[in-house]
Amino acid sequence: MCLTIPAKVVAVKETASGSPMTEITVLASGRTRDIKALDLPGLSPGDWVLCAYDTAVRAISPADAREISDLLEPTRHIDASSLDPAFIDALKGHATRGLTKEKIIRLLKTEDQRELTALFSEANTVRQAHLKDFFCIHGIVEFSNHCIRDCFYCGLRKDSRDVKRYRMTPDEIVETVSDAVNGRGYKLIVLQSGDDFHYTDGTLADIVRGIKKKCRAFIFISVGERGLECYRKMKEAGASGVLFRFETSNKKVYDSIHPGQSHERRLELLRAMKGLGYYAASGFLIGLPGQTVDDIAGDIILMKELGVNMVSAGPFIPCGGTPLAGCPAGSAAMTLKVIAVSRLLMPKAKIPVTTALETIENAEGRRLGLSSGANSLMFNLTPERYRGDYRIYPGKYHGSTGVWERYGLFKEALSYRMLEKKMFEAFEAGKP
Ligand code: SF4
Repeated sequence: MCLTIPAKVVAVKETASGSPMTEITVLASGRTRDIKALDLPGLSPGDWVLCAYDTAVRAISPADAREISDLLEPTRHIDASSLDPAFIDALKGHATRGLTKEKIIRLLKTEDQRELTALFSEANTVRQAHLKDFFCIHGIVEFSNHCIRDCFYCGLRKDSRDVKRYRMTPDEIVETVSDAVNGRGYKLIVLQSGDDFHYTDGTLADIVRGIKKKCRAFIFISVGERGLECYRKMKEAGASGVLFRFETSNKKVYDSIHPGQSHERRLELLRAMKGLGYYAASGFLIGLPGQTVDDIAGDIILMKELGVNMVSAGPFIPCGGTPLAGCPAGSAAMTLKVIAVSRLLMPKAKIPVTTALETIENAEGRRLGLSSGANSLMFNLTPERYRGDYRIYPGKYHGSTGVWERYGLFKEALSYRMLEKKMFEAFEAGKP
């Protein structure tokens, strides 16, 4: 489901009695336009509505309209003509497909407030031009925190001794997802776990099949480095996407924090998943020890080269008890620049605000991310009794789903079709 920027009704025209359609004039994002209202009798000037393209489909209270507008409405505008020409050249590079690595580095390095405003504003303009003002809401179910790997940054690594491990049963997973889809209106759910081979390939495929039998939703799989056969089985069972980060494009940095793993194999697997027809969500960590701005530019370019359809890039957060516990966290400022530059380079991609950004910035992270070019949020749907134990890093933010679930539009088949269309467009845009 998704939300849009609320519009204020400024005029209501006379309508033939009995017609479900009313002609109204609304004001949204500083612009008035004439649209229709569907099944919203009794609207009057001053009321607030949510619109799908040129139709108002839901009335909304003024307080909630303000809350949503504060979150979604971009407020950053600047006269770019007075900025450094080299910066403007980099900023506009995307329009001519000329956003080179040097230009990306120029954008990522800026700390000038006016340039930052111009960058976020440009990213927002690109988002609006390609994806309109729909902000999507997706869910994630973390079904097991067991893992055979030992990634240096992760609180769930196999060497972490103070983790209370859990596994959800296949039935529990299917029930949790179908409740979220059939009861709360979610249409895209990520199933995530550590690299946990307790679940066989067949079990994972059965879980996907069980979900698809009970509800209509896009299922994304995030179960780590399994053989390609496993991903093939899950695809055949009905999975649509994979969430599989490459973590960093710098092999040296990768090798230094992933004992026993291979950077080449990880990239190979991701490419093979794309080859199976999966919608690919991937990305990297921002602020890893040893990572440079040059590396981050390389990370963004690698996402583009891989044809990533959903960007997953969030700040590194050190976790107590891991080898990287004493390292500084990645910065929110760099994360927002990464979101903006990714939007310029991949206009149609889905870019969620990561939980890690919300964790280091709390509620403000959500607003800042959405006004820097991001267009979706991922809500945690893991049952409460397990949620606190999926501790990749400490203090994980669990923001309110409040207005999002209350006003999420198109909870039924229309939502599914809209999402399907957007995913198809993003998938096509990710093709070489
Ligand atoms: S990052 Fe993933 S693969 Fe690595 S230890 Fe954590 S859960 Fe396991």
